[in-house]
Amino acid sequence: MNEKIIVGNWKNYLDYEGSIALANSLLDINTSDKVRLMVSPNHLYLREVNKILNQTKIEVISQNLTSFDSNSDTGGISAVNLNKININRTIIAHSETRVREKNPQSILSKLITMGFSFVLCFEKIDQIPFDILRNNFEIILAYEPVWAIGTGETASLDHINEIHSNVKLKLSKSSLNLPILYGGSVNPLNCKEILDSNYVDGVLVGGASTKFEQFSEIVNSI
Ligand code: PEP
Repeated sequence: MNEKIIVGNWKNYLDYEGSIALANSLLDINTSDKVRLMVSPNHLYLREVNKILNQTKIEVISQNLTSFDSNSDTGGISAVNLNKININRTIIAHSETRVREKNPQSILSKLITMGFSFVLCFEKIDQIPFDILRNNFEIILAYEPVWAIGTGETASLDHINEIHSNVKLKLSKSSLNLPILYGGSVNPLNCKEILDSNYVDGVLVGGASTKFEQFSEIVNSI
């Protein structure tokens, strides 16, 4: 895959003003044709950030969802309601959400059947449900070693390549061709080496994606 996907996960770092300011700054970001950008604001500000970035090539995606269409999902986020505000993709099974939602993957089959795209995070290869994955709409995988998330410690390139190549091999045995991102303390200093790897189809960036200068440096490293 020639194109690299960069996803900025804003988590809960930014308040309302910060989210709107960052979205407005992103209107000026320069991206090469080889880069596809997604940002994931806090759910509370998803709609407004999406309105700002609506006319750009930056896709606004959700940080999580908890059901496909349940009306009784108090406090949750459903795919159907995300769809109604023109959000058509979510991060799912992020380690920070797995702490409270034990079986996020139970929703995957439904998302796949209905064509709601997602970035599925995993730490161990056996967390990937290879049997239900499909090529016919975009599913993105993200390898995220928990010890590297938000710690400033990045996995070595050898380690990333090894995991990604193992996953790619398993995917190809099922005739699947899905992009695999790496996430875990990606920053302007380490991004180029990681993004240059043929085994890495992009990065999922937390902290550094909430600072415009750092995020632009990552985006421009390609
Ligand atoms: C993340 O939240 O998925 C992440 C990788 O965070 P950070 O880049 O801050 O480690």
